[in-house]
Amino acid sequence: LLLCSVMKRVPRDRTLFVSSLARRLSSASGPGPKVCIVGGGPAGFYTAQHLLKARDDMVVDVYERLPVPFGLVRFGVAPDHPEVKNVINTFTQTAQHERCYFYGNVNVGTDVSVEELRKAYHAVVLSYGAEANRSMRVSGEGLAGVFSARDFVGWYNGLPSNKELQPHLNCETVVILGQGNVALDVARILLSPLDLLKKTDITQHALDTLAASRVRRVLIVGRRGPLQIACTIKEVREMINLPDTAADMLPADFESISEALKDLPRPRKRLTELMMKTVKTESGQHKANKSWGFRFLRSPLEVLPGPDGKRVAGIRLAVNKLEGSGEDAKAVPTGQTEDLECGMVISSIGYKSLPIDPCVPFDPRSAIVPNNMGRVKDTAGLYCSGWVKRGPTGVIATTMNDSFDTARMLLKDMDSGMLNLSVNKPGGQEITALLKERGVRAVSFPEWEKINLEEVRRGTAVGKPREKFLDVKDMLAVAWS
Ligand code: FAD
Repeated sequence: LLLCSVMKRVPRDRTLFVSSLARRLSSASGPGPKVCIVGGGPAGFYTAQHLLKARDDMVVDVYERLPVPFGLVRFGVAPDHPEVKNVINTFTQTAQHERCYFYGNVNVGTDVSVEELRKAYHAVVLSYGAEANRSMRVSGEGLAGVFSARDFVGWYNGLPSNKELQPHLNCETVVILGQGNVALDVARILLSPLDLLKKTDITQHALDTLAASRVRRVLIVGRRGPLQIACTIKEVREMINLPDTAADMLPADFESISEALKDLPRPRKRLTELMMKTVKTESGQHKANKSWGFRFLRSPLEVLPGPDGKRVAGIRLAVNKLEGSGEDAKAVPTGQTEDLECGMVISSIGYKSLPIDPCVPFDPRSAIVPNNMGRVKDTAGLYCSGWVKRGPTGVIATTMNDSFDTARMLLKDMDSGMLNLSVNKPGGQEITALLKERGVRAVSFPEWEKINLEEVRRGTAVGKPREKFLDVKDMLAVAWS
């Protein structure tokens, strides 16, 4: 089985291929440590990279639910941020490493259990990210026209499970709840000129919907003030620079904060100064066709239905005041409320991880796998990295650092004997046999490369970097053709 799966790799050079095949076969069935990683996103690949580099006898297998790798780099990062996606090159190098093997199309927890993986490998690293979204817990959340940012982002980025979302952009005003970078990504996609988006890897069905969009105004609402805003300066600057789009801020929000400026850490100071400058230069200018703006000190109370009782027509917000100052300031309701008219609400208040398997500890309150610096609590041989380890915050670089930390912890446990390497483990051979029994066929990395090539070919034909497949069955048809 292993030979067959390795043979699927296309040899660039026969000699190289034969020697790499021989090395892979001997290491995969040899006595060296075997580790498997659950999740083929940044955390998974960075953990694998560190482990492979640290020991030249280590075999690392990556199991990924989808037939395609790279997690949120493919399905989260905004299509107009192609430079961020360059990390894919590093992940590809890791996946092509002779002691690494990628098993796409394998849903851990359904197709194979964590317990089975633990039996087959010396260690298992959970790097399966945060696949759900936090709900607002207000009435009206289920109305038509209310979406989570996770689903909306998944829709324009081609996540198969969000293919059918159908957000009708036939309204003028969209309210986004949350003021992090994801909220600004969504706002930017809603307001960007189509000509800019057409050159990105945004899906064609999203482009078609955006082409018919009537959205002219996006309000980005946060429960705290300008000094607590969660986005970064790059994303705010991109909003300010959007063509034919004015910033619509409320000068009163910035009146009392100049005093605090001098004590702020440099990144926050620069961000606040940029927002203050924007208020000064842009307030009163309404010549642009479109607008966006932050609305501070507001929390959702209720999504308001229109006359049909089915579609959103507005949102009721609690007006807050701040208690305390700086990053720790708390939003406290004043008892006043405010209604905003809008035809669409997108809640961007955070992603959250889900439990994957009953045998894996899970903390439902913080929605992470409880761990001590990457070692899963009370479960020897089980580790975690990325968003499932520390919660759904931080950029790819943060995820890289924490994945390296987990890998270091695992290596330390191998060196100290805490992980018993004296027993030979079957690794991927055993799991491949189990999957076969269950009728599950994995997608290898060379098979993903076939999907990749086909997506790039389809994109090139229409002047885009790629046109993604939206259906798992279409991905599989190309992978196995
Ligand atoms: P993920 O990227 O989610 O990867 C987890 C992987 O596990 C996925 O491939 C998933 O399919 C797989 N998986 C899930 N369940 C299973 C299972 N049961 N079995 C097998 N596999 C499974 N960072 C930046 O630096 N720049 C940006 O511009 C940027 N933009 C972002 C935009 C959005 C909308 C979001 C949400 C995040 C953005 N980030 C950005 C942050 C960055 O994407 C994360 O830091 C990073 O992706 C977290 O990596 P992860 O591997 O923990 O999770």
